[in-house]
Amino acid sequence: MAVNIFPEPFRLKDFQVFEPMVVDIKPALKPDSPPKCGNYGCNAPKMHQMCAGCHDIQYCNMDCVEQDFPSHRVICGAFHRGQRIPGRAYRRALYFPADMSRPSFIWLEHLNFKFGDDPNYMEVFLGSPPKSEVATMRFHDRTLPYEIHIFYVRDMSQTDIADIAENESVKTVLDTECVIRGSFIAVARSPFHETSQQVALNIDTKALGPIVAYLKLRAMYRGPIFFEQPQDMYPEVVYKKFMAHMQDSLTTVSTA
Ligand SMILES: [Zn+2]
Ligand SMILES: [Zn+2]
Repeated sequence: MAVNIFPEPFRLKDFQVFEPMVVDIKPALKPDSPPKCGNYGCNAPKMHQMCAGCHDIQYCNMDCVEQDFPSHRVICGAFHRGQRIPGRAYRRALYFPADMSRPSFIWLEHLNFKFGDDPNYMEVFLGSPPKSEVATMRFHDRTLPYEIHIFYVRDMSQTDIADIAENESVKTVLDTECVIRGSFIAVARSPFHETSQQVALNIDTKALGPIVAYLKLRAMYRGPIFFEQPQDMYPEVVYKKFMAHMQDSLTTVSTA
């Protein structure tokens, strides 16, 4: 069986080297930029509708409210109910338990947090696996002013993939043919180095669209994954073209 080695997720500039004409790459949102329409993919800058349920997400018009409603409603109430921070050294995270029907917001302690560490508190929510099995998937969607770090349990025992429970909490916002397995936690991190002195970033409801888009991409393509998520979903034929170029530039090893 051939296995590809991807030391770093790809950056969008790598795209441009191969196919400068194919993608119109829009600039990423800066940490201090005003929010854009919460309907993922719309990106309109002027907001006229605030969600009355959570007061966290804004939309450019009623069409975008309605389009986003099927996925936003899954976490809107949870955000409204879970806003109280338990102490200064906590950050809000979005928890997708495998055995529950909905994601929820949780508070994670971030004292002594060092960049790149797999913190102990993750294990509580991920079923207490050995620390070495907690892995991170990072990406920066260009519609968010922060990076998303997804913590999940990497299967070290080479269990048959079908033995890992399908994640029920994410199913409500994914296409039915797209299956994600195991619980995971999404955390917002600064694109810059974080220290324990800084106030930790809190994830909110606006991260759901980008997370869902990223997970769909992961499930659809077994090939290289991008660290900087493009703002648009490109037709499959365009992706395949990119992937073919990327495949050529990667190391392929045989595990046989
Ligand atoms: Zn809401
Ligand atoms: Zn919109």
